Amino acid sequence: MDMSGKRVLITGSSSGIGFGIAEEFAKAGAKIMMHGLRKDHEAVEHLISIQKMSKSEVFYQSADIGKAEECEALIEKTVEKLGGIDILVNNAGIQHVAKFEDFPKNKWDQVISVNLSSVFHLSQAAIKYMNKENWGRIINIASVHGLVASKGKAAYVAAKHGLLGLTKVIALEHAGSNVTCNAICPGWVLTPLVEKQIHANAKEQGVSFDEAKKNLLLEKQPSGEFVKVEDLGKIAIFLASEAAAQIKGVAMPVDGAWVSR
Ligand code: NAD
Repeated sequence: MDMSGKRVLITGSSSGIGFGIAEEFAKAGAKIMMHGLRKDHEAVEHLISIQKMSKSEVFYQSADIGKAEECEALIEKTVEKLGGIDILVNNAGIQHVAKFEDFPKNKWDQVISVNLSSVFHLSQAAIKYMNKENWGRIINIASVHGLVASKGKAAYVAAKHGLLGLTKVIALEHAGSNVTCNAICPGWVLTPLVEKQIHANAKEQGVSFDEAKKNLLLEKQPSGEFVKVEDLGKIAIFLASEAAAQIKGVAMPVDGAWVSR
């Protein structure tokens, strides 16, 4: 699907799923603002690799989206560089795993602010530009953990359930316009966020990384396969397309039948 002329910000695109989404938007010809927590060597390498495959302009801006003022500044920088914002992909997120009784209070605050409050601040700052043009797409990368729970993930599960609620409210309040808001709910995707969990599981189970990887899939994802970042990118492009104009407020599982069990 052709995205030329569209201006898109993808948060957390210096890594994992966000990077995969940026690749697909670049191939489709969109103008892109990439984003990550830091402007380090790795982020610059990612920016250069997306620029190489793009027919349009690609920029990178670092910001800590755990802070409301940095969310607002990120939207303003995007509008300044791209000349506006048509599509906002709220992808950046973090995880912390601990039993409920032991869950550190500072980790609760951090996960809620990065995975949920940031989406409120970024979307509120961006939607005024979308309203002016009567066209916009907000695509939230939630999780199967927005629909079901897993042990040890109190803050993450709460944030992702909250994110699906926020998605519905934004969709409902803009249902009469061409601004839509939807969520994608991936199951396991092999990214740095999940690799960290596999390493911890391998240590706990006393098995190799590969064995722990197999166990992770066996436990939750009946397809036995990881979701691919490029497939998530193509689904995001579909939600940004005209064909998806009447898709409003949905939570779309892409999870190898995880939530079907
Ligand atoms: P990742 O760790 O590879 O990437 C996370 C990105 O978020 C990075 O670019 C990082 O710079 C950014 N980020 C983290 N904290 C930030 C902060 N305070 N300010 C700004 N940016 C920050 O993770 P991923 O697996 O690609 O996850 C991306 C999204 O997909 C997350 O919202 C995650 O919850 C969701 N998700 C992932 C999976 C999976 O299996 N990997 C499954 C379901 C949902």
